[in-house]
Amino acid sequence: MRVGIIGGGVSGLAAARHFLQCGIACVVFDTGKRGVGGRCSSRTNTNFPGAVDHAAQFVESSGRSDAFDAFIQDCVSTGVLRPWDGKFVGSENDGLGALPDFMAEGVEVRQDRWVAPNGGVFKKPDGTWSADKEQFDAVVIAHNGKCAERLTSKIRSPVSKLCKAAFGTKPSPSRMTLNSVYSLVFEVPAGSLSYDGVARVFEDDDVLAFAANQGKKLGWARDGDATETWTALSTGAFGSKNKHPQEQLRGTDVEERVRNEMLSALGAALGASAPLAPLRWRLQLWGAALPLNAHVADVPFAWDADNKIGIVGDWLSVEGGPVASIEAAFCSGDALAKHLAAAPSESAGLEGSYQAFETVFSRRPPAAAAPPPTSKRSDAEKQEKKLRKALKRIGELRLMDYMSLTTDQRVKIHGEHAVLEKLGRLGVKDVEALRRKLQPGLETPMPRSKKWSAERDDQREEDKKRRAWEERQNAKGQTRRKGDWDCEECGNMNFAKRTQCNKCSAPRPVAV
Ligand SMILES: Cc1cc2nc3c(=O)[nH]c(=O)nc-3n(C[C@H](O)[C@H](O)[C@H](O)COP(=O)(O)OP(=O)(O)OC[C@H]3O[C@@H](n4cnc5c(N)ncnc54)[C@H](O)[C@@H]3O)c2cc1C
Repeated sequence: MRVGIIGGGVSGLAAARHFLQCGIACVVFDTGKRGVGGRCSSRTNTNFPGAVDHAAQFVESSGRSDAFDAFIQDCVSTGVLRPWDGKFVGSENDGLGALPDFMAEGVEVRQDRWVAPNGGVFKKPDGTWSADKEQFDAVVIAHNGKCAERLTSKIRSPVSKLCKAAFGTKPSPSRMTLNSVYSLVFEVPAGSLSYDGVARVFEDDDVLAFAANQGKKLGWARDGDATETWTALSTGAFGSKNKHPQEQLRGTDVEERVRNEMLSALGAALGASAPLAPLRWRLQLWGAALPLNAHVADVPFAWDADNKIGIVGDWLSVEGGPVASIEAAFCSGDALAKHLAAAPSESAGLEGSYQAFETVFSRRPPAAAAPPPTSKRSDAEKQEKKLRKALKRIGELRLMDYMSLTTDQRVKIHGEHAVLEKLGRLGVKDVEALRRKLQPGLETPMPRSKKWSAERDDQREEDKKRRAWEERQNAKGQTRRKGDWDCEECGNMNFAKRTQCNKCSAPRPVAV
């Protein structure tokens, strides 16, 4: 069997590593220009004084996977990782990017190769697969987001549905949801920040989720260095709010604003005596940064044996298993490779459910605090004020010509009794005295008319409009047309088409 793996992050490489160990041929395709690793990669050979991790910062083990723990031990014994504060950090020269490089040793990697989402992967009539024009017996999608969604959209397999992605800060109940995180790497004169620790997690900051002094963390900083280099990572909410296409970020107002906001938040949190003025900096948006939910099934991957296509990644997990981490990605890729080596004809992980979880990056900003009350009045006082105003307005309307009022205004007038009753119920002692005060010149309340109704008033309004129209027509001399006739009984003018009077129903005179 020959397997094509699309994605050279930790999950794809973990699968490739196991395939290699058990003699299954595989090829990894990865877009990375400088190297493999995806979200677990570092910047080296830049103008910064040493290697910097611009996405993943630490490796942590939950202790649930022997395979992952054994792999970590391998990394430590070969100097790829270094224990630090219960976690592991990358090497001095290569940062955390040393980890995927180590995983890729011996693996056939097609570097800087983007498998086109529209037609880059398809199933041939003979049942084999074509990936980037190479032939494979099976394919594994080892990346997520819009690219994986489009790549699998035309493939007839249950895995296509699992690859559908949503973006934002709120996990969808039915599809994988990813947030966006800004990463700002910057170099400032030594001592710009009074904080002298290595790393800091921000539990309740709107802008920042995490920051680490890269030189101290990776071990390349020396006493007496003139500068210090930091990586600051934003919250998902901040990333989503300020999202901008990464390829077009350079030199834009968004880049400037995001950089300044992150620097000022960091300066405030880590004790900068003056606004931070970086000597060098680089801002990057991880558009598909971290999953906010995981597809939880009985295995941390999905494999469609009928079509020989699988998916791996940090968003596929088991109940209580790791998610959104290097450990999750490793366990997913490793488990799929083991399954393919043992039982390739059995589908697995296609049925599951989406479960949301919290990370420091997925924290959402607290709901805005309720605005302070602008008025100290109770509800009853507010209602009484409204009713007094209504009563005053009714008085003004009553003094106007009733026929000139609109139906709404008349309805208001006829509702006066209801207003007075409501005021009484609210505890106003002398309602009548209040009415006289608010309606000067009106000695008695509006008499309650039994005949009055809004419908009747509407009818009057209609009649008024019709009469006005007739008058206008008369003025134009257009009322009588050829064939119109006058009723002999009541004198009403009728249209030519009528056979009896419109008003009194008398028959149309024969001579007409
Ligand atoms: C800002 C940030 C901070 C983080 N911090 C930590 C941390 O401290 N500790 C931790 O454990 N985890 C952390 N994580 C999470 C961790 O980095 C990821 O969970 C893990 O690296 C995911 O690996 P993956 O293989 O699933 O996906 P990815 O790393 O995304 O790998 C997918 C790969 O596929 C490639 N690819 C995509 N499309 C194509 C295509 N069409 N053709 C070819 N190749 C393609 C991509 O270039 C990429 O290399 C962090 C993540 C982010 C974004």
